[in-house]
Amino acid sequence: MHAPKNQFVTGLRCIQCGRTYATGEVEYFCLSCGYHNGILDVQYNYEAARKTLNAETLAGNCDFSMWRYLPLLPVSSPDLIPHLQVGWTPLYETPHLATELGVARCWVKDEGRNPTASFKDRASAVGVVKALEQNAAQITCASTGNAASSLAGFAAAAGIPATIFVPARAPQAKVAQLLVYGARVFSVEGTYDEAWELCMKASAEFGWYNRNCAINPYLIEGKKTVSLELAEQFSRLTPGRGPDWVAVSVGDGCTIGGVWKGLKETYHLGILPRLPRILGVQAEGCQPFVTAWREHINLAPCAANTLADSIAVGHPRNFAKGLRAVNESCGAFVAVADEEILQSITFVARKTGVFGEPAGVASAAGVRRAVASGIIGHSESVALIMTGNGLKDIQSAMRAAGHAIKVKPEIGEVRQAVLAAAAIK
Ligand SMILES: [Zn+2]
Repeated sequence: MHAPKNQFVTGLRCIQCGRTYATGEVEYFCLSCGYHNGILDVQYNYEAARKTLNAETLAGNCDFSMWRYLPLLPVSSPDLIPHLQVGWTPLYETPHLATELGVARCWVKDEGRNPTASFKDRASAVGVVKALEQNAAQITCASTGNAASSLAGFAAAAGIPATIFVPARAPQAKVAQLLVYGARVFSVEGTYDEAWELCMKASAEFGWYNRNCAINPYLIEGKKTVSLELAEQFSRLTPGRGPDWVAVSVGDGCTIGGVWKGLKETYHLGILPRLPRILGVQAEGCQPFVTAWREHINLAPCAANTLADSIAVGHPRNFAKGLRAVNESCGAFVAVADEEILQSITFVARKTGVFGEPAGVASAAGVRRAVASGIIGHSESVALIMTGNGLKDIQSAMRAAGHAIKVKPEIGEVRQAVLAAAAIK
C-alpha cells in the first residue's frame, strides 16, 4: 500500500471506538469493531490546510471541478485522477419553488449534471483513484443503481475492470449505463442489502478493490465536496450567509454524512459563516433513520418498500454518520409517501426546470412536510441536493407526468384537443 503524500491527512479514526490508524495501516474498517460498526473517518490538519485552502486561494483557482478541494481529499497521486469532469455543478436560486414549498428562499444544487448524471460520481472519482494507487486489478461495489452506474463510468475512464452487484429491481436506465460502460453486472435476485453482502463476500474472496461507501472511508470524502462547493457558491451568491437548511434524501447514510462533514469543514475554513441544519428525508416505506431518530432507539433494519430506488435501503450501512449529521446540526428527519415523491418529480421540474429522479426530488417533498409540521419556518431558506437526473428512472417519471395527446398529423385534431382543454379550464 502507498504511503499518503497528502500532507494534510493525519490518519483514520474509528467513529465507534475512537481507535486511530495511520493511513495505509488499514484498508477499509476498524480492526477492533469490524465492518458492521467500525467505520473510519479520514482526519486532516485543518489549521495547516487552511493556509492552502481558503476563500482567497479558491477565488483564484481555475479548476472548476471537485478537485479544486484537493488539499482536503485523501489522494496521494493526483496524476491518477481520471479525466471525467466531476463537480462544480450549478446552484440555482429557485423562487417559484420557494413559493410552492412555503419557504423564504430556495436553491437547487443540480447533481444530475455530473458525468454519469448523479451525485455518486464524486465518490466514484475518489474510489477509482484509490484503486489505482493500490494497483488494484478490479474494482467492485453493490449499489441501488447510481453508485453502480457511476463506478462503471469512472472505471471505464480509468481503465480498470469493474464488477457490480445490483438488486434485480434497479431501474433499467441505470443497468443500461452499467452495461454500456462495460462492467460485469450481477443482477441479484434479492434486496439491496443482500446484494451488498454478496459484494462483500466476493470482494474478500477475489481481492477486488471495494468501493462500497459504508466500509471504504475514502468515498465519503468525495461526497463531502458537494458541500464545499455549496458553501463556496453561497459565499458568492449571498455573501455572509448560507441557507438555514440543507435537505437531502437518505439511504445508506453516507451521502448525508458526507454533506455534513463538508459543511463543517467549510465552517472551519472560514468559508461558511454559520452551519445550516440538515433535513434528512426518507420514504415512508423505508424509514429506519426516521424511526431511530424519533424514538431515540438503535437501528432496526426494516423492509424497503419505496419507488425511490436510490434510498430503498432497509439496513443503512452508515447509520452512525447519518444520524450524527442530523443530531449535530440540530436538524430533523422526515418521511414522505411515495405519492408525494411522485408529485415532486413534476412540481420540481415545473417550478425550476430541473428534472430530478425520485430520490432527488424526495428532498423537496421532505421540505414541504417539514414546513407543514413546523420544523422549517416560512421565513427560513433551504438548499436542496438534487442527487440524480430524472432520466435515470423514466418509469416513475411517466407515472408522475401522464401521457402525450395522440393525434393524426391533421390540424383539425390539434384544434379539437386545444379547444377541449380550453373548455375544461
Ligand atoms: Zn473501532
